[in-house]
Amino acid sequence: MTARSSATPQQNRADDAWNIDLSTQLYGINAWGADYFSISADGEVQVSVDFGDGPVTVPLMEIVQGMHDRGLHMPAILRIRNLLDHRIELLNKSFARAIQDGGYRNTYRGVYPIKVNQQCHVVEEIADYGRAYHHGFEAGSKAELIIAMSQLRDSDSLIVCNGYKDAEFIELGLYAVQMGVPCFFVVETLSELPIIIERSRALNIDPLIGVRIKTTVAVDGYWSQDSGDRSIFGLSTTSLMRLVDELRQAGLLHCLRLLHCHLGSQIPNIRNVRSGVLEACRFYAGLAQEGAPMGYLDLGGGLAVDYEGARTNSTHSMNYRLDEYCANIVESIRETLDPLDVAHPVIISESGRATVAYSSMLLFNILNVSSSSPAMPAEPPPKDCADALQNLFELQQQVAAQNFQECYNDALFYRDEMRELFHHGQATLRERALAENICVSILHRIAAMLPDLPRVPPELQNLPEQLSDIYYGNFSLFQSLPDIWAIDQLFPIMPIHRLGEKPERSAILADLTCDCDGKIDRFSTPEGERNTLQLHALKAGEEYYLGVFLIGAYQETLGDLHNLFGDTNVVNVAIEPDGSFEFAREFHGDSIADVLSYVEYEPKRLQENFRLVAEKAVRDGKIDVAQRSRIVQAFRESLHGYTYFEKH
Ligand SMILES: *Cc1c(COP(=O)(O)O)cnc(C)c1O
Repeated sequence: MTARSSATPQQNRADDAWNIDLSTQLYGINAWGADYFSISADGEVQVSVDFGDGPVTVPLMEIVQGMHDRGLHMPAILRIRNLLDHRIELLNKSFARAIQDGGYRNTYRGVYPIKVNQQCHVVEEIADYGRAYHHGFEAGSKAELIIAMSQLRDSDSLIVCNGYKDAEFIELGLYAVQMGVPCFFVVETLSELPIIIERSRALNIDPLIGVRIKTTVAVDGYWSQDSGDRSIFGLSTTSLMRLVDELRQAGLLHCLRLLHCHLGSQIPNIRNVRSGVLEACRFYAGLAQEGAPMGYLDLGGGLAVDYEGARTNSTHSMNYRLDEYCANIVESIRETLDPLDVAHPVIISESGRATVAYSSMLLFNILNVSSSSPAMPAEPPPKDCADALQNLFELQQQVAAQNFQECYNDALFYRDEMRELFHHGQATLRERALAENICVSILHRIAAMLPDLPRVPPELQNLPEQLSDIYYGNFSLFQSLPDIWAIDQLFPIMPIHRLGEKPERSAILADLTCDCDGKIDRFSTPEGERNTLQLHALKAGEEYYLGVFLIGAYQETLGDLHNLFGDTNVVNVAIEPDGSFEFAREFHGDSIADVLSYVEYEPKRLQENFRLVAEKAVRDGKIDVAQRSRIVQAFRESLHGYTYFEKH
């Protein structure tokens, strides 16, 4: 198997009709790539890291080759550690700059919401690299709190606990406080309060209490229901007042230190951010006026990722940059609190998506293509064939721009007539195949005319999509890209090599699961959504690799075992200033035995059962002992192999 493209640069240049600039435009890589991804002069996607003296680039194909050499086969998740580091740095530096420029009199503290990507090495990297910025963690469950507590070694980094908290959860958090880690309990419902009060009295540790409010700001995008009156999170204003009263009664009002609001994830519109902050500030000031010391304003997540590269306020895009986001927050707080004489709080944000999305990508190879192109030459039909077939054949000679609509209707009419005749035994299988073939060839010719027409009739608008190829990819949508299936998420998808060649095929993608939902037929481009992706024709004996980008957030643990495709291989790569790279960590994905044991099979027993089946076949004289041994061996090897398509 050859991973490297065998095309020489000369061959790439020889494609006069196409060049890498056209690929750059077509796939929008400069628009969504945020300077991390671009196309090299050799027509390969490269990742760029800036060490201070300009960008250092590494082609993804070199990493793929390195994975191959280590026996890590496709599909695989590739994580680039430098990109994660850079996102943390960028977030902290952008807030620091906005704070300085805006004359704001306090600091910023980021916390990473563990749920967005809980993988150990992602969290450890954030803890390690984030230490310089006192970047902390947001935990939404006991398990996540345990992760956070075991990672932080810095008493200036915060832990923010959201979600429902039982006594055990609260005890853990109180111990963190006792050890000097600022660990906040954000009260989401009043029923948590008595447990917090009881436990902190019992352990004699003052808690750090926060409160989550419901904002009334309407937010654009997919998560519009995370805010507003019907949001399932946060306290209403009446509950908020009860909380203050109960804390005061318990003598614990001095523990109320933080206001939390989370407008929802992927907020595409900066105006929503601004309105949300303004509203949160009113609440903050109100609580300060009630006598709570406060000091921390947590604005939750929501910082978007421009998956489309369109810079608009559509669901998968965003109409602002990071520095604007920071400046808007800083200014809004200052403008609201200054007239009220309330001291500037520490600004906390819980950016998850924007922190981890860029650093991971899914790489996979294409196994096969099902083309709708006419499969046979349009040979003349036999003389004694049905009229419908004869008519189709003649129609084929007549397709032209003046009569395409009529030809379209006639082609479908005669094709259906042939299906009908076949159904009644009046046409042979071969005749029907010929009719289908001619019909497809007519439709292709019509589709080729559409781009030049002043107006495309509505019933023909989907024709190119219906005639597109299906590229079968070596991956499972349900395991690796669950949000495409669950919430119609769009991710940038493109070939990672051959980009100096013209991608002549229009395609949709299908995965390995035999599920009709296991397909991708919506693709983002800077010009908007499209139903097909332009791809290159496969070359004999050469692999074709695609990448799905910006998948670091939410995909890795939401995935499931549909059709028992397991975790993919994963590599963590660290790029060095000299352009070399290191496989910092590598993880082999699930074996078939692994996934079977997840659904309660015992691999040892499966093997034993199979041995008995083989033994019986020997006794029945179906196979001999040598064959039995080979078959049992093959079974054992499969059991311990990768769940995805393997080429040997
Ligand atoms: C999910 C979540 C986040 C992360 O949101 P992003 O949009 O990914 O930054 C932050 N805070 C809370 C409370 C969340 O539920």
